[in-house]
Amino acid sequence: MKLGIVGLPNVGKSTLFNAITNAGAESANYPFCTIEPKAGMVAVPDARLDRLAEIYEPDKKTPAVVEFVDIAGLVKGASQGAGLGNKFLANIRESDAIVHVVRCFDDENIMHVVADASTNVPVDPLGDIETIDLELIMADLEMVNRRVEKAQKAAKGDKKFLREAEVFRSLAKHLDAGKSARTFDCSPEDAALIATSDLLTLKPIIYAANTDEEGFANLEKNRYFQQVRQVAQAEGAEVLPICAKLEQDVAELDGEERQMFLEELGVKESGLDRLIKCSYSLLGLISFLTYGKDECRAWTIRRGTKAPQAAGKIHTDIERGFIRAEVLSYEDMEKCGSVAAAKEKGLLRSEGKEYLVQDGDMIYFRFNV
Ligand code: GDP
Repeated sequence: MKLGIVGLPNVGKSTLFNAITNAGAESANYPFCTIEPKAGMVAVPDARLDRLAEIYEPDKKTPAVVEFVDIAGLVKGASQGAGLGNKFLANIRESDAIVHVVRCFDDENIMHVVADASTNVPVDPLGDIETIDLELIMADLEMVNRRVEKAQKAAKGDKKFLREAEVFRSLAKHLDAGKSARTFDCSPEDAALIATSDLLTLKPIIYAANTDEEGFANLEKNRYFQQVRQVAQAEGAEVLPICAKLEQDVAELDGEERQMFLEELGVKESGLDRLIKCSYSLLGLISFLTYGKDECRAWTIRRGTKAPQAAGKIHTDIERGFIRAEVLSYEDMEKCGSVAAAKEKGLLRSEGKEYLVQDGDMIYFRFNV
């Protein structure tokens, strides 16, 4: 899974990215400081995998991973090429979902930049969201218009493309009115057609509302956060309150210290953990586990994946030669105390090709090639 972090300059993208990856992307009060997108891999926290590793003491413990990409440089006019625009849009296109960081903190020392670095404007989450949305919508419009042209040409030879041209024409109208493809109302068939076009404003989105410490401690009274939440609710998107600066402090601590610090703040999990959980549910992702002396490992799949395709994540041979999956739910294993005890109780199931893998399934695949 790949998450693209976007937002206007100086909203806290790099700070968040650093906290997430500890990769040292430069954070400075300077627009366009991150010119190349910075990518970082992060382990998906999973207490079940930790427990399995305790039991099996394997040679290798491999968590599922999420890739974060810090996509800086989006400003008003980016879709026209300002702020190195188009390159950034291409980076967004490669992401599975967008994390849109929105500035929800006041700080006189940090410029709020919308169009260019010479003008400082008041903090305005709604305006910021609109600005970024509009850039993405304009980029989509260009793409959709090209698609209409192509379909019209093709329709001269084959009438079936007439429908395609029509669908994309009405989508173009919708985009031209400043609305995202996400909110375009159409039949499932047309939606499937549109889904072939890889549009930016079709991607699932999480709004990360970056507040200061004070604002984070009292979200209900935080006007900026409330505004972002309203936008998210209206779009059916996710909203995640986050304090990037605090996250950076959290990231520098380890283990017990981190837990204590979080407790002091009155939160159970770090922003990273919450962000990953939020993206998992947004994208309909779950994890299954493989276990043994060699390796304990968590694997990411989409909810609704059948056993052979889940096996294919591990190796195409296992999918090709799939015989059966021996499945034990982690919960059952934990209740019984060990795999052997769960087996004795008959909780280890043998599942076939049609089995839909569940979150937390511990699986041993039988295959033959
Ligand atoms: P980017 O351009 O969106 O990547 O923004 P940066 O992460 O580089 O942040 C710009 C400036 O804002 C830096 O000086 C950060 O330290 C500061 N900053 C980020 N988050 C917060 C916050 O929650 N509160 C305050 N006061 N400053 C922040």
